[in-house]
Amino acid sequence: MLPLDRLCRGAEAALGKDPSTALVIAVTTRAIFSLEEEHNLYLEKGKEEYTRHQQANQDKPLSPGTAFAFIQAAQYVNKKILESNPDERDLFDILVLSNNSPESGVRIINSAKHYGLEISKFCFVSDEDSTQYLKSHGVKLFLSADRTDVCNALRRGVSAALVFQQEVQAPSTPLRVVFDGDAVLFSDETDQIFQEQGLEGAVQYERAMEAIPIGEGPLKAFAMHLGKMRKKFGQENSPIRTYLVTARSGRDMGIRAIKTLREWGLPIDEAFFMDGAPKGPILAQIQPHIFFDDGLHNIQGAQNVGVPSAWVPSCC
Ligand SMILES: [Mg+2]
Repeated sequence: MLPLDRLCRGAEAALGKDPSTALVIAVTTRAIFSLEEEHNLYLEKGKEEYTRHQQANQDKPLSPGTAFAFIQAAQYVNKKILESNPDERDLFDILVLSNNSPESGVRIINSAKHYGLEISKFCFVSDEDSTQYLKSHGVKLFLSADRTDVCNALRRGVSAALVFQQEVQAPSTPLRVVFDGDAVLFSDETDQIFQEQGLEGAVQYERAMEAIPIGEGPLKAFAMHLGKMRKKFGQENSPIRTYLVTARSGRDMGIRAIKTLREWGLPIDEAFFMDGAPKGPILAQIQPHIFFDDGLHNIQGAQNVGVPSAWVPSCC
């Protein structure tokens, strides 16, 4: 195959982005666009038929997929950052990573153009494991509709989550991102104690460990960079709002979580300690552009209220 640089068509210089300082997000085509019908065609009839279909429909824009609203809102954040400082280089930088061949990729590029999406690079790679390119492109978050991809990225130490095809609303700005706590922002150490010793054991563990920050979870690196962007703005005019929605109870297990965020210097605008209650209703109220959780029941609850959801698998 061709070297990646020849396949990744870049325009970041023209957009004033610097991949070394930018918050680089890689999304796969099935995460950003709705391609289920086409994907089924690929599975049933093979690559040739799929490519033929995509070429025949290359001027027909694809419908938005689960991660579309998030990417669009990231673009809004870039606009706001540049309005306040035209020289700023710490911007979102969106890269589309695809297993499509360049021939079938024309429809993807045309769809991005149709919606006015600022994608700095389109990478059409034929490798089985395309996640090998994430680190070299400085990717801080990878969103894919393929579980193997997501697990490979997590193993490579890149924040990653799986998106499912779902009906999504188009939330208004600012960009709102909701994180779960344990096994997402934080490590799963307390979850493990809970599994082994039950709630009482977990509560005792948290009390004993109160002065020690919780370990880092798979999405910490992405959250920290997002937090750095968030800090450029005051409470009133921020184009980014971040949330923690955790099953922890505030009374018994909230303090260590709050202390950990403080220790990390991670700004969270609002925190909800749900004490095991369903997250759907609060998510419906927040209307985030993306919600990260490791619990499939929480992902289901979010999907039921039309909230774009990304699953962070704790076992790959
Ligand atoms: Mg969790």
